[in-house]
Amino acid sequence: MTEKQAEIPKNFWKCSACGYTIQAVEPPEECPSCHKKCEFSDVTCYAPECNFTGVDPRLG
Ligand SMILES: [Zn+2]
Repeated sequence: MTEKQAEIPKNFWKCSACGYTIQAVEPPEECPSCHKKCEFSDVTCYAPECNFTGVDPRLG
């Protein structure tokens, strides 16, 4: 499967407080789900072992 993307590759960020996952270039300052200033973990993974979902199941 070949996919051309001209956009900036977005990362997946997971809220440490509520587990909400958001796809963005940079993590938001405030979580759109729990509306707190949480820490966001980068759970981006495009490896075959993650089934190319973009999220590492071990992290996300
Ligand atoms: Zn949250």
